[in-house]
Amino acid sequence: MENDFDSKQMYSYQKLKIDLNDVKKQFPDQVELITIGSSVEGRDLYALRIGSGKKAVLCHGAHHAREWMTTRLIVDFINHLLTDCSWPWLSIREDWLTDITFWFIPMVNPDGVTLVQGGINDLSNRKELIDWNNNSTDFTGWKANSRGVDLNRQYPADWESIQADPGQPSSSHYKGSHPLSEPETQAIYQFVKQYHFDCAIAYHSSGEEIFWRYTLPDDLVDQHRPLAERLAEVTRYRLIEPEGTPSGGGFTDWFLTQFQKPAFTIEIAPSIGPRPVPDHLYKQIFQANELVLYTIASYLID
Ligand SMILES: [Zn+2]
Repeated sequence: MENDFDSKQMYSYQKLKIDLNDVKKQFPDQVELITIGSSVEGRDLYALRIGSGKKAVLCHGAHHAREWMTTRLIVDFINHLLTDCSWPWLSIREDWLTDITFWFIPMVNPDGVTLVQGGINDLSNRKELIDWNNNSTDFTGWKANSRGVDLNRQYPADWESIQADPGQPSSSHYKGSHPLSEPETQAIYQFVKQYHFDCAIAYHSSGEEIFWRYTLPDDLVDQHRPLAERLAEVTRYRLIEPEGTPSGGGFTDWFLTQFQKPAFTIEIAPSIGPRPVPDHLYKQIFQANELVLYTIASYLID
């Protein structure tokens, strides 16, 4: 199968590592860079903070391996926040950095991303991976981590009743043997528990949609709706109103249930099937999402 993403444009784990360390070097007083854990194969899970305000926002990407364009988007956010005075940010108010704290986790699933981009050579359990991938060495459609667990079906929110689970390691949809069985989700869970976040954004990449309700009770739906509608307006993505009983286990499902604070799963690209988002869509994706953090920040510090 021909890949229609340009390998020169791939946003890899190695590139992320270099870029985040460069940012830290360039802006030592404005950012904090930490690792909140490591993946199954020992790759670092990086978190980067900008700002030190009371209101805290979490923004993460690439829970799903093939959706690594979300990592590129988040690193672009970081660079714009720090370097681009023409970004709408600075017009919120001059001291916005003292009002808002942003934590970014650009790549939750570095093993999976590495597998999608470079094939099995950089992974240790090659035989199992090929087996779980229906005996194929084409991993461009892979979503799970390196143990075949779908990291966005791992969170303790109605995990028991998750639908359409293959019951064994797979390129997608396997929820694992128990909630938070994987080091990647365990790290996110612990990090979020120790923090007080006022809002969370989970970036994914299929459908140009925003998930925001899960099973929230009506009074909270009413509370969160104005922000959800503002995000839909700036991105021009569709707000999803749940039909029937939504299947749980996602980060946003858990965050909403656990903290009752607004959380959004934002799907940045049109539905393009099981493959990475093609490069040529990046520009329009960046433009659609450029106002997302600004919108949340101005909402929280209003
Ligand atoms: Zn996804």
